[in-house]
Amino acid sequence: RKLPVDASLERGSRTVRGACFSLVEPQPLLRPRFVAVSPRALALLGLSAEDVLTDPHGPEYLSGSALLPGSEPAAHCYCGHQFGVFAGQLGDGAVCYLGEVAAGADRTDPCDRWEIQVKGAGLTPYSRQSDGRKVLRSSIREFLCSEAMFALGIPTTRAGSLVTSDLYVQRDAFYSGNPRPERCSVVLRIAPTFIRFGSFEIFNPADDFTGRQGPSAGLHDIRAQLLDYVIETFYPEIKTEHTDRKARNAAFFREVTVQTARLVALWQSVGFCHGVLNTDNMSILGLTIDYGPFGFMDRYDPEFVSNASDKKRRYTFEAQPYVCRWNLARLAEALGSELQASTAGSILDEFMPLYRNFYLGNMRRKLGLLRREEPEDEELVEDLLKVMHNTGADFTNTFRLLSSVCCPLVGESGQGDVGTVVDLILEQCASLEELKDLARKTKQENCELEMILSMAETSPGLFNMTANRPEVAKQLEKIGRLKELLETNQEDLKVKQRDDWLIWMNRYRKRLTQECDGMSDPAGVDKERVRIMDSTNPAVVLRNYIAQNAIEWAENGDFSEVQRLLKVLENPYSVPPDLKQPIWPGKKGSCETKGST
Ligand code: AMP
Ligand code: MG
Ligand code: MG
Repeated sequence: RKLPVDASLERGSRTVRGACFSLVEPQPLLRPRFVAVSPRALALLGLSAEDVLTDPHGPEYLSGSALLPGSEPAAHCYCGHQFGVFAGQLGDGAVCYLGEVAAGADRTDPCDRWEIQVKGAGLTPYSRQSDGRKVLRSSIREFLCSEAMFALGIPTTRAGSLVTSDLYVQRDAFYSGNPRPERCSVVLRIAPTFIRFGSFEIFNPADDFTGRQGPSAGLHDIRAQLLDYVIETFYPEIKTEHTDRKARNAAFFREVTVQTARLVALWQSVGFCHGVLNTDNMSILGLTIDYGPFGFMDRYDPEFVSNASDKKRRYTFEAQPYVCRWNLARLAEALGSELQASTAGSILDEFMPLYRNFYLGNMRRKLGLLRREEPEDEELVEDLLKVMHNTGADFTNTFRLLSSVCCPLVGESGQGDVGTVVDLILEQCASLEELKDLARKTKQENCELEMILSMAETSPGLFNMTANRPEVAKQLEKIGRLKELLETNQEDLKVKQRDDWLIWMNRYRKRLTQECDGMSDPAGVDKERVRIMDSTNPAVVLRNYIAQNAIEWAENGDFSEVQRLLKVLENPYSVPPDLKQPIWPGKKGSCETKGST
């Protein structure tokens, strides 16, 4: 249905019943111009970056300021669970779907048929209290990270171009540390589809607010149509394999479960924290979608939260797999009568084992354990992460450095090379002062645990009962470690950190010998290990302070750092020529990001 936009669209939530898309008109920017384009992403659409950049109307077409011939713009209606609570109707509030592009040779292949969207193109019926615009800051983050994730081999929506303009909006202090007029900017997004778990939640029985229930709305038809469309278009092999609808739907839900487990296992292996893992930000294809207050960890911390507005710390790094499983359970509910609850339950039970398998596979590659699987591998990985955490080591750089550890069967047999690698890791570990500051902060946040600890003297029986609860035990162990840390001096700490690393490294070296043991050409095997490790452990990721630096240059009118970063991030496994060493964690800037709208 054609819905009026612009001036005639009153602000505030609008309920759209009985439809999953509304036709809209993207609103033009004022003097749109390119900040950057991604040649690889544009190529998917059959466009050359050069043609686009030299076309005087390029920025207009790719920002929705002028309509591409044949395009029928629409905003998608979806619901979602936000931070654990059903939030009713959300929908594309700032995004406008422009249509599909079939540029490849095989036009029936869903991978050669791309949906394109402009993000930040103005009001839609789903804009609620906001303006449907995006600012340069958030657009640079989405543009760069989409392309960076793709280059890392992580499924993601793509970004073809980033356009900015002379149209301004102001964000309040919640979204901007420094409220000021900011330039409206638009990212061209590309994906096989942007359909989300939330797309199916418009049929959620809890959605009283939008009043979608009742036979008159014909919603069950829409659910069936949407499901048929998604399966036929994006999971065609499932459609071919199953004639029975129930079996087909179960196979579909299992496949979404597998793709989601694969995706989150990849996030965990590069230290990526999504930040807003609500069901409306979960792709039905297992793509990373909706880049907002995401963050790559610098120092490894399982409790890392990238989103500063996530006060309850729901979306910590370590919680991501569990959150994804929870979100899948909401998708199963939303499929309603299309999927039997008991079937959904048993598929959901497969999620954690699937995830662990993917994760361990990724971690084995990161450690270069390629030829055999040993039962102790899991513990070796866990202990590596523990040492990284206790010493405040940098996640990305530590993994990158591991390929320089020699296999004792091939390289030096002494401590020589291990000592050098350990020194390099220690060089960028947290200082005693930094660790103590963190310990003090964490202890303050855990005053409840201090009370439990003091109970140990007054009522030991009660203390033991409480301390035995796994979640309390975990926290107590942490408090114990922090206490110990606060009493340590600089010298002792350095010695202890070095020891911890050497102990782990020696276990690792021993494990590496098993890789070449009995091979006719151990040196060749080891060389191959190093090659695979260096194409698995990135030398560069989009660290927050690096993105922030590019944003500051761009806000001052210089887009060259955004363009340079795109080039660097397109080859994350090679050390950029102007960087003699990996990028160490910056002291500058925090790792948390506020809302990014
Ligand atoms: P997000 O947190 O980005 O996933 O967005 C949550 C909801 O807010 C989605 O329905 C978005 O479309 C909507 N939204 C985000 N930014 C804007 C904006 N600038 N104007 C209108 N709606 C928005
Ligand atoms: Mg979203
Ligand atoms: Mg967003």
